[in-house]
Amino acid sequence: MSSILPTKVMRTFYFKKSPPKPSQAPQVGGSRAGKQQQQQPQSDAGWPFPNFRLRVDDISHPGAQVFFANVNPDEVLRDAAWAVFSWLYTPVTVPRHVESVVLVLRSMDGVAHTMGSDIYKEIHFSLEWIAQHAHRAKDEIQGVLVHEMVHCYQHDGNGTCPTGFTEGVADWVRLHAGFAPPHWREDGGSKWDDGYASTAYFLDWLEQSHGRGVVRTLNLTLRDRGYEDNLFKEHTGKKVTKLYSLYRESLTQKKAQSVPN
Ligand SMILES: [Zn+2]
Repeated sequence: MSSILPTKVMRTFYFKKSPPKPSQAPQVGGSRAGKQQQQQPQSDAGWPFPNFRLRVDDISHPGAQVFFANVNPDEVLRDAAWAVFSWLYTPVTVPRHVESVVLVLRSMDGVAHTMGSDIYKEIHFSLEWIAQHAHRAKDEIQGVLVHEMVHCYQHDGNGTCPTGFTEGVADWVRLHAGFAPPHWREDGGSKWDDGYASTAYFLDWLEQSHGRGVVRTLNLTLRDRGYEDNLFKEHTGKKVTKLYSLYRESLTQKKAQSVPN
């Protein structure tokens, strides 16, 4: 099945957090766990790292020069795959059908998008975007690649999932992997599936308030069936609209508490 998952302009913020061990669910509130480097698995055993390939359409482009000055392509792609494996899966549940992931660095509008088939994925990444973010290139490249790598592996109920949810899960993994850009803020949004960072923070709150591993479970449920409105209720006991209003309330309370007397 072919899929194209375009990425809007990414919003960015920083804070590094500790990753889970390969067999662990993410930790509640882990996104605020301080700056720690991601721990790599001791070996590939048990984890289906794909064959990584790289295509650079214009090697003399300033973005290409920024890319190679800041990251090692093999390492950055492996790190991104590892972030997806460790935050969304276990060695038992991780999808094993992806054989190749090709990173295509090229001149294009926007930031990045992922396309391909079950076994072959292409991540297209804008050289202009990389050049524009030269001042924080390593984190931005890693963050975008984690987001896009989620699209290579996440379940979407065979295409029935709200796009805002799949984009929110992608940024939730980015957030937890420690590559949130500096301008991301936990400021709600207008609805739960606004997508991207807005939904990522809602999912983070969901993990903190309704138990670690909820996002992982939601993703896995969408492997075997289509998205339905009662998905969240099945796993949390509450409708997603109710959860979202509770999340908004928690933000309001947090804001009130942070206002000095
Ligand atoms: Zn995306």
